[in-house]
Amino acid sequence: MKNQKTSGELVRPGKDELIVVGGAGGFIGGSLIRYFYNKGYRNLRAIDKKPLPAWYQTTPGVQNLVLDLSEEANCKRACEGAVEVYNLAADMGGMGFIEKNRIECLRSILINTHMVEQAWRAGARRFFFSSSACAYNTDIQKDPNVKALKESDAYPAMAERGYGWEKLISEMFCQEYWHERGMKTFIARFHNVYGPVGTWDGGREKAPAAIARKVIEAKDKKTGFVNIWGDGTQTRSFMYIDDCVKGIDMITHCDDLIATPINLGSSELISINRLVDIAEKVGGVKLKRNYQLDAPKGVAGRNSDNTFIKKVLKWEPGTPFSVGLAKTYTWIEKQYMARKKGSRIVE
Ligand code: NAD
Repeated sequence: MKNQKTSGELVRPGKDELIVVGGAGGFIGGSLIRYFYNKGYRNLRAIDKKPLPAWYQTTPGVQNLVLDLSEEANCKRACEGAVEVYNLAADMGGMGFIEKNRIECLRSILINTHMVEQAWRAGARRFFFSSSACAYNTDIQKDPNVKALKESDAYPAMAERGYGWEKLISEMFCQEYWHERGMKTFIARFHNVYGPVGTWDGGREKAPAAIARKVIEAKDKKTGFVNIWGDGTQTRSFMYIDDCVKGIDMITHCDDLIATPINLGSSELISINRLVDIAEKVGGVKLKRNYQLDAPKGVAGRNSDNTFIKKVLKWEPGTPFSVGLAKTYTWIEKQYMARKKGSRIVE
């Protein structure tokens, strides 16, 4: 029967078949390219609109293309010959960015709309879309002791303004490319991803990198205090980058998950105050906390319900936050020190 899901093992491409990653100049896309390379895939195409020197990392032997994927002709070029397409490209950032740039966030709809169409036209066998926990109904996230979000909590819909609605509509596009046109599409709702080689300054960084950088800066400049957005009681779960790329691989190659949005996040709930505690411990400092109550802080609480991923994949992201944050802190500290000397460490 047409479009029937086939149950079974993970089905991966051949090591020489073309895999395309959009947004590969950024944090997760760049890490995904590196992950596939380390797994032995040798036909990889990485695409981003940023000029190559601004990419967070590049991997040897990979075809790197600088293209704006909000234009359909560029998506055609990007997807030519691909057996798998991963769309990680989006105009995004932490709460500070997405609350102030709703139009830019909404305009990312152009990227996925053209990418999924061109992947289908190119005959790609699988298409992955990076959705977000911001697609969930915000009305049920007003309490810091929020119950973990399960996949069905996206509807009835009341997504995060701008960014969240773009994700929800793009998810729907992906679902219909399976139902109407038979291309296998896969959708993960990421819950805050962090780790080395991510955004750590400039306004688009998320809480773990931002707090780590602020602690490093306070230590370096001996200010004795740290600014915190909100009252510190907001809760989130944070997924370490290694878990994220492994999860993308498992989800995209599992036919039981075709056209089925799934949480990809850690279920370890962390308050912002606890995040600061851990960063202080790694840095070996104790700082006065200056709570900025009028700063952007997003929903009060959010966690990932991992019942579904554990059932289907017998796995969930498991890196303890204190372990992942220590690695991230160390990486940011090196970047911070390099920047002080006017340089940047390129991976
Ligand atoms: P990132 O900003 O580091 O990477 C996104 C990349 O997309 C950037 O390098 C950017 O230059 C590129 N891009 C933007 N517009 C483009 C265009 N028109 N053409 C080509 N490239 C373009 O972000 P990230 O953290 O790596 O996020 C990757 C994906 O995961 C995004 O779709 C994001 O919405 C989603 N996501 C991330 C998180 C997280 O915590 N990092 C959480 C939920 C969802």
